[in-house]
Order: sequence, then C-alpha cells, then structure tokens
Amino acid sequence: MKDCNQCGKCCIKYGNGDLAATQEEIDLWEIFNPDIFEYVKDGKIWFDPETREQLDRCPFLELVPKIKVEEKDKYTCSIYQDRPEDCRLYPSLIDEMVRDECEMIEIDDLENPNKAQKQLDKLMSSSRP
Ligand code: SF4
Ligand code: SF4
Repeated sequence: MKDCNQCGKCCIKYGNGDLAATQEEIDLWEIFNPDIFEYVKDGKIWFDPETREQLDRCPFLELVPKIKVEEKDKYTCSIYQDRPEDCRLYPSLIDEMVRDECEMIEIDDLENPNKAQKQLDKLMSSSRP
C-alpha cells in the first residue's frame, strides 16, 4: 500500500453532502472556529453561509500550487487539524478504497485484501477511537 498522494478523490467524492460531523465537533467549531461553523446547517455539513444551500464541494479542499505544469493535481485540507471525524477516519476499508479508486491501493493490495486491510488498520490506528 502506498502513502496517500493527496489526489483529493475522497474529499471530492464525499464532500458534497456525504460527510457527517459529530455534535461535539459542531459545538467546538461554534466556539473556537466560527469560520467552519458558518458552513453547518441544522447539524449537517457543508452549506453555503449565504444561500444556505448544500455545497457541491467541500469549501476547505484546496488545490496545492504546482511547481511544474505537468504535475498531477494535489489537494490539501485547510482545516486539517479541525476536520470532521468522517474525514479523520478515511480510509477505513479496502473495499471502499477500491470503489473510490483511492490511489493508495496497489496491485498487491487487490491480490491480498486481508493483508492490505491489516496494513491499513495499523496505518490508521492513531486516527481511530
Ligand atoms: S474537511 Fe478537509 S478532509 Fe474533509 S472533505 Fe473537506 S478538505 Fe477533505
Ligand atoms: S483517495 Fe486515497 S490517495 Fe487520494 S487523497 Fe484520498 S486517501 Fe489519499
């Protein structure tokens, strides 16, 4: 399994209404991060602060400036330390990564999914509760 290369596919796929934040996270944003809290509506994320419509894309996903034009797009999260639990817990399952075309997956992971899952569990252990 490769390291995450910040391809952004997961954030692009799930950032348009398929992410959830816990009530505790929302409460903390309200107090300490009003710039994040303004994108919350009725306990759900991410909504346009002005129109109150669901956004098509996570507002905190940023394209990293390229040094060379031929480089692949690379993304970063502008609220990385305060991102919601759903984001912190991704990726959690090999099947999900394959479905999402996560670029951490290698041929060997497809051939040995159980081994790959164990490797992933170890890799993600510090992010999981
Ligand atoms: S909050 Fe950060 S990690 Fe979560 S979808 Fe947005 S950019 Fe990605
Ligand atoms: S899809 Fe996989 S490789 Fe791409 S940013 Fe998400 S975790 Fe990283």
